Amino acid sequence: MINTQQNSFTPDDHRYMTMARQLAARSLRNEEVPVGALIVSDEGSIIGRGYNQIEKKQSQLGHAEIQAIHQATKKINGWRLDVHTLYVTLEPCMMCLGACLLSRIKRIVYGAPSNLFGISSSIDLMPPVYRSHTIIFQGLQQDECGDMLKHFFSKIRSKKETAREQECAIHQHHERKLT
Ligand SMILES: [Zn+2]
Repeated sequence: MINTQQNSFTPDDHRYMTMARQLAARSLRNEEVPVGALIVSDEGSIIGRGYNQIEKKQSQLGHAEIQAIHQATKKINGWRLDVHTLYVTLEPCMMCLGACLLSRIKRIVYGAPSNLFGISSSIDLMPPVYRSHTIIFQGLQQDECGDMLKHFFSKIRSKKETAREQECAIHQHHERKLT
């Protein structure tokens, strides 16, 4: 089920999403797409942290949510996260949403929507056994989470453009030498 009401977020939700954004910043240090995730119990213990490490691990299992779930289940020595909330800066992909639902996560709270990989709007199409435990909340600190991603991709684009310009300059130089 998706809850779209912005006013349902508490000050604690904001605090945890801010921490998830700080985790996302760690991906940036490795020049990876900045996504961070945090798993918090109803009592407020943080039992899982993750940030995107696809390139570092050379595996799609490097998604922030998978990392956080892995750490959380190790911590409690159990797979069931039914009294826990996952905070993630970007809308989960199919794999991560599947892992969340199978882990019986109580709430998923995400920041920025993902037009490419986001799947949360399709949750109602899944078999009931998958979605009976989980409520998805969208758009917490959406702008802040989205700005990190936009900034990252615009930096990549300008790097590529600079590389292209340098390549052109080298070609022109060689051509001038030949003529
Ligand atoms: Zn994912």
